[in-house]
Amino acid sequence: MSFDITSYIRDIHDFPKDGILFKDITPVLSNPKALTGTVEALLKMAEGLKVDKVVAMESRGFMFGTLLAARLGAGFVPVRKPGKLPFSTLKEEYALEYGTDALEMHTDAIQEGDHVLIHDDVLATGGTAEATVKLVERAGGKVVQLSFLMDLLFLNGRDRLQEYEVKSLVSY
Ligand code: 5GP
Repeated sequence: MSFDITSYIRDIHDFPKDGILFKDITPVLSNPKALTGTVEALLKMAEGLKVDKVVAMESRGFMFGTLLAARLGAGFVPVRKPGKLPFSTLKEEYALEYGTDALEMHTDAIQEGDHVLIHDDVLATGGTAEATVKLVERAGGKVVQLSFLMDLLFLNGRDRLQEYEVKSLVSY
């Protein structure tokens, strides 16, 4: 029987703000079977792809992104909020419901022509993923897949990523 991640995803009401239903992945991380099962399931989604780098977003993307990179024989690249990365960076701003935010990546993290798999825990509105795609492409990388643990379909994140292969272990 294939692994089902849904029983390890916990719903938290009104976090981080009133009215938000937050999908908590810490039970996936703390359960040994769920942790291994999730890595295997993400690897299966990436089957057949040539991947040079896994790029993942701060901070929950780092957890499975790093494990995935090691298993794919790829390098790992962190994308972080401004001011966190020590070397020179590329920066992309993106719109939030109110205001803007930004993400940064080291200028030497991607080599021209690198095949890149982007990973994060959740695809919501797609703003984070879209900004990360732009960083990768500005650095000369080719996005071969965007991989998520879950996709919140009602927030339409996939609409902003139509040119790319978007895969998710589970959709809500
Ligand atoms: P987006 O930019 O697609 O609107 O939001 C995606 C980002 O917000 C991801 O980096 C993800 O970690 C975080 N995020 C948004 N909603 C949730 C949620 O319900 N659960 C978790 N774990 N992360 C979320």
